[in-house]
Amino acid sequence: MFETIFELINNQFPQDGIPLHEPRFGGNEQTYLAECVESTMVSSVGAFVDRFEEAVASYTGSKYAIAVVNGTQALFVALKLAGVGPGTEVLTQSLTFVATANAISYCGATPHFLDVDVETLGLSPAALEDFLANQTEIRDGQRINRTSGRPLSACLPMHTCGHPCRIAELAEICHTYELPLIEDAAESLGSTYQGQHTGTFGLFGTLSFNGNKIITTGGGGMILTNNAELAAATRHLTTTAKQAHRYEFIHDQIGYNFRMPNINAALGLAQIEQLPAFVREKRQLATDYRQTLATLPLTLVDEPADCQSNFWLNTLLFDNPEQKISFLEQANRRGIFARSLWRPMHLLEIYRDCPHGDLPITEDIYQRAVNIPSSVRVTP
Ligand SMILES: *Cc1c(COP(=O)(O)O)cnc(C)c1O
Repeated sequence: MFETIFELINNQFPQDGIPLHEPRFGGNEQTYLAECVESTMVSSVGAFVDRFEEAVASYTGSKYAIAVVNGTQALFVALKLAGVGPGTEVLTQSLTFVATANAISYCGATPHFLDVDVETLGLSPAALEDFLANQTEIRDGQRINRTSGRPLSACLPMHTCGHPCRIAELAEICHTYELPLIEDAAESLGSTYQGQHTGTFGLFGTLSFNGNKIITTGGGGMILTNNAELAAATRHLTTTAKQAHRYEFIHDQIGYNFRMPNINAALGLAQIEQLPAFVREKRQLATDYRQTLATLPLTLVDEPADCQSNFWLNTLLFDNPEQKISFLEQANRRGIFARSLWRPMHLLEIYRDCPHGDLPITEDIYQRAVNIPSSVRVTP
């Protein structure tokens, strides 16, 4: 069976050493970068930042988009401005990249891990509802985790490998329990749920433009929000909280230097111009993979119902953990750089003491899942 998969991957990517996901620069990258250097405006403000922000807002349908240095700090700032403070708990999934949990920790808050759905690999509305209904209560006007005694300050689902989670249902539950919703949409630029772009359902959504994501700025991130006041607060806090003044430096908070440099935005603008083509191509790759893999005794994670997925990464689910390890060993020895899904947060030493219930789906998926090379293919 492995031979069939290796042959399939080698046919899609005829090259020596096949990374999991590498960038494609086939548009205006050189032109915009040269223009940016020429202008000397390579640093933290400039026309490319404005143009890139407008392009992302327009593509996602978000009212506001604020470009920042990376996806991790985008999450941190969004959580902070949503009111996540020290001593509180944030409900999130254990099956995620470590940045999701780290951003919660940077706020002085504690991640509380819930299970995911097998169809989406994202936070389970049933698990969220069950926890909120049965293990929390209102004390002094705050919703408290009865076991830990800590107030709940937000809910932070993630759209795993680009597949939208059941975000409308999560939003509904958060609304009922008056919990701010922030979406980690780092992996899901180009993915929609019932036609609405991921990252636009909550108070904030965040994107990443790291080198391995569907489009890249080298390093970078974006904060999405439909709220004018929060958008202004986000710009202010990420620009050292400097008040507008012609020549004085007056800062009214301890802010951050988190804005995206213009030179990164130049790259980003060229990249987002190609995003519709990238999404089309990645969806075609998923279809091509599916055609051959359909005959094998394994599952290729598919687009959830009511969704369009960007198929950032294609995920195989083997029947058992031994197959996963054996596949990863053999693939990597042959220069096919397939990877495991992230070790779930509650199984990492650094997060093992954080609150969580039973996480059977998370653990089962982790033990059987493998991501295979999923870059945009180079068309001859
Ligand atoms: C990539 C990623 C991030 C972090 O983005 P950076 O730009 O690398 O800081 C956050 N969350 C998830 C789920 C990611 O995949």
